[in-house]
Amino acid sequence: MNISKERTSGAPHIPEELNAYINAASTVVFSPGRINLIGEFTDYNKGFVLPAAIDKGVYVAITPRTDQTIQLYSVDFKETYQTTIHELTPSGNASWPNYLLGVVSEFRKSGISITGFDAAITGNMPIGSGLSSSAAIECATALALNHLLQSRFDKLQMVQLSQRAENDFVGVQCGIMDQFASMFGRADHAIKLDCRSLDYEYMPLSMDGLRIVLLNTNVKHSHGSSAYNERRAQCEAGVAILRQHEPGVAFLRDATLEMVNRHLLKDDATIYKRCKFIVEENERVVGAGEDLKNGDLVSFGKKMYASHHGLQNLFEASCTELDFLVDCVRNNPNVLGARMMGGGFGGCTINLVKTEAVEALISEVSSSYSQSMHMELTPHIASIESGTTMLKQPATHA
Ligand code: ADP
Ligand code: MG
Repeated sequence: MNISKERTSGAPHIPEELNAYINAASTVVFSPGRINLIGEFTDYNKGFVLPAAIDKGVYVAITPRTDQTIQLYSVDFKETYQTTIHELTPSGNASWPNYLLGVVSEFRKSGISITGFDAAITGNMPIGSGLSSSAAIECATALALNHLLQSRFDKLQMVQLSQRAENDFVGVQCGIMDQFASMFGRADHAIKLDCRSLDYEYMPLSMDGLRIVLLNTNVKHSHGSSAYNERRAQCEAGVAILRQHEPGVAFLRDATLEMVNRHLLKDDATIYKRCKFIVEENERVVGAGEDLKNGDLVSFGKKMYASHHGLQNLFEASCTELDFLVDCVRNNPNVLGARMMGGGFGGCTINLVKTEAVEALISEVSSSYSQSMHMELTPHIASIESGTTMLKQPATHA
């Protein structure tokens, strides 16, 4: 399957391949993937993250039906999935319908009366690469259904029900960052998000002379989603121990390094490493936010390398291919920072690269990667764009 359809610059427009599934009554929404500059796995520990929405994402078209059938079509997989509004249970065979049906199920749980509909989906972003195509589908579906069902959820409510869809229906215990970034993204800005209070601040990305380069390893190790949930459980286990000594610690976000060293070091080496990483990573995000305000991207980049070091050695969420790509650029003066990004065990690295060096860097790293890893990487220069966008509303709702 080829999904590397490029979006040209400017606002997203309805891709041609969706036209066959759209009529006057259809609602069409685009929702982007996201990068995260720094702050990995801090979201479910109620800490800080620094994501931004990108120029690639997922398109969902929803058209009402007069019966109670829900019919989903994946343009990219050329697959149809059919159910009814009374049978909102996870599909056992294909996973892609669950990202849409999970959102439908959350609308129902919130007391919204569901009607039958057809939905068609297509994307132009890498799938399973840490750019969160899953959150993009959920957010696009949520905004489209919000119009179809006239449910008047606000953006934050749609983010929260999209996250619950992924947690409860798909079964991935992700935090809120991916859906938040997809829905709330703003062009040329990163979002500093406090994952506990959900306070957020748009921070201008003064990328003068720099580009964000994503290098996709094109690997996704199969234990990835169980390892993700296991890491989350280990963080919770760390909190349970800390709490016995420090009642004020409700999440790792509340812990200090001193507490982690004092109470976890002697107990369980694995839990200690996981918690140490999270506490340090959270501090890095706060510092990185200051770096952005000060326009100090050199200091920012050093924190990205430090983040990767912790992800590799303490949180152990990296893999050979990701480590190889970070090692390739580590001593390159044209690369200010690099780290693995997303759920780990594959996917992309994110690199802060001097504009004039981007082309040479990509060609150099690509050839080293294919020589050493015996596979090809896919580079992408991320531009930072707006969040979930309505592309078409039915005439009567306009
Ligand atoms: P990520 O969110 O990092 O891209 P996930 O494993 O969380 O990776 O989500 C990827 C899943 O989302 C795919 O396995 C597929 O089920 C679904 N998906 C993503 N993009 C599309 C698409 N264009 N069409 C259909 N399903 C998609
Ligand atoms: Mg995902």
